[in-house]
Amino acid sequence: MKKRGKEMWNIADGWLNYIRNQRPAWASKTREELATTRAAICQTCPHLKQKSIKIFADHYCSKCGCLFPMMAYAKDKDCPLGLWPVDPLKEKLMKMIKGEK
Ligand code: SF4
Repeated sequence: MKKRGKEMWNIADGWLNYIRNQRPAWASKTREELATTRAAICQTCPHLKQKSIKIFADHYCSKCGCLFPMMAYAKDKDCPLGLWPVDPLKEKLMKMIKGEK
């Protein structure tokens, strides 16, 4: 149940950030850079597959089933193979929580 909730959060967050980044006034440069880096890695990955029918997106990850490129915009999502870089905002938050500098 907890895992399903996290998946649903990542889908919603990915879509929201993806839509935000289509509008320059709402875009976050940090998010866009992270998503672009992630997307570039996915585009060289053999697990990025083309969908037979385009509904919302024409590619998906065959490891996690998420739609591409929306999945690259989800803050808390990780690549199932660990190929994506660490989110600098998430890393900074975790250090603050642990009391590290
Ligand atoms: S999320 Fe990871 S496994 Fe999936 S397509 Fe991207 S790099 Fe490949």
